[in-house]
Amino acid sequence: MFSDVDIILQGFLRNAPRKQGAILGLTGDVESIGDLREQLCKKLDYQVELLWIFNIENANIYEDDVMMNKSTKASCSLMLGNKMRAECSNEDIRKYNKSNKSAVKCRMECDHLTDAETLLKLIRDTLPGTEYTELKCPLCSVVWKKRHLIEKCHMSEDERIFFNRVLEVNRKTKDLKREGK
Ligand SMILES: [Zn+2]
Repeated sequence: MFSDVDIILQGFLRNAPRKQGAILGLTGDVESIGDLREQLCKKLDYQVELLWIFNIENANIYEDDVMMNKSTKASCSLMLGNKMRAECSNEDIRKYNKSNKSAVKCRMECDHLTDAETLLKLIRDTLPGTEYTELKCPLCSVVWKKRHLIEKCHMSEDERIFFNRVLEVNRKTKDLKREGK
């Protein structure tokens, strides 16, 4: 009765009942995570840079070449980024080198400047699957507070869920390592 896509979506729906209306009714072949992202982007009218599939168990983002199988289907969760991020106002804009006009500029507590997409990429690339429970400025190593990151990135609800899950999993990993010593 269920197609493959329907089965994949059962996992999403468990984690996000509110997305039910938007993601039901996908068609076509979904063999890899890349296929799934592509299909969902079309269906939801989302840019691929703002739509991610992550493993809810270990908070790792799935690479596009990962094939869909029983375990991916059971653990994958959808993260939709904030589509309105580029339109968020920013008080730092005048002081910033306007090389990327669509980027949301962020002045961090250490006074270094960055932008929301760079910060989110840093979170996605450096935190999952590690024992780090905080993010440091790559330039001066000052710890960036969690609530500031959520604020500066204008995180969507999904991005907050993902970020919190990553920190929760990493904290457990850290505790386990410490107990093992
Ligand atoms: Zn800094």
